[in-house]
Amino acid sequence: MRARFTATLLYIILAPPITLFFLGLGSWWALLFQFGSHLVLVLNTLLPKWQGFGPVYTHFTPRGAEVWITLDDGPDLRTTPEILKMLDRHAARATFFLVGEKVRRHPELVHQILAAGHQIGNHTETHPQFSFWRFGPSALKKELIGFEEACVVAGLPCPALFRAPVGMKNPFLHPHLIARGLVLVAWSIRAFDTRHRNVSLTVRCLAGAVRPGAILLLHEGLVETVTALDRLLVWLSEQGYRTVLPSLDQLRTKPLAPHETARFLER
Ligand SMILES: [Zn+2]
Repeated sequence: MRARFTATLLYIILAPPITLFFLGLGSWWALLFQFGSHLVLVLNTLLPKWQGFGPVYTHFTPRGAEVWITLDDGPDLRTTPEILKMLDRHAARATFFLVGEKVRRHPELVHQILAAGHQIGNHTETHPQFSFWRFGPSALKKELIGFEEACVVAGLPCPALFRAPVGMKNPFLHPHLIARGLVLVAWSIRAFDTRHRNVSLTVRCLAGAVRPGAILLLHEGLVETVTALDRLLVWLSEQGYRTVLPSLDQLRTKPLAPHETARFLER
């Protein structure tokens, strides 16, 4: 697939010459047009679910009361083995969005993840969470390829799913993703578990917003999240939810309509 210009990108690119043209005609209102393009650029960069630069998958089409659990920032010796045991106990499936340099340190954990029937995704080579949003094309490419090289060295398959560090992106990202056959997956619900580290709050945030087709985000490396995940899995099972790994053609950029959600809950 080739990268396409979205309407947002065209606006950002064409705003300066159009603004100059109308300024030349004496219209100061043209400056508002230019300001608008900056605003659109910033919002699409900082807000993980905004799709102005290309598709960002935030939901999936379920086949019943199904949710997708995703765990970022592993593999981690402190939490991955425990999480794997817990998922096994609950007969649950999850996708682990991994960091390349951690894959290099603990390839055995990634092999265990895959052997247990779970899935992995690319979460960059070094997880540059404070600077990823301003990376240029070559720095972005290095992060994507670095992760893939870590997989190759460890004898692992290269995944088709990509998640950006803290969900930030910029106009250079999608062309690289498309060139490498990757799709950008965000989430439907997150609990900010890395910030507050509160088990009850994490469970409440996620359980309170769960709908069929939701993508749930949690993080590795935190013992509180391990406990929260255990409680969440119990709650999901009580509510009749199954955890699944959706295929690429089930991924959606929008939530289900309320009447569709109700239909999946009835089954
Ligand atoms: Zn992360």
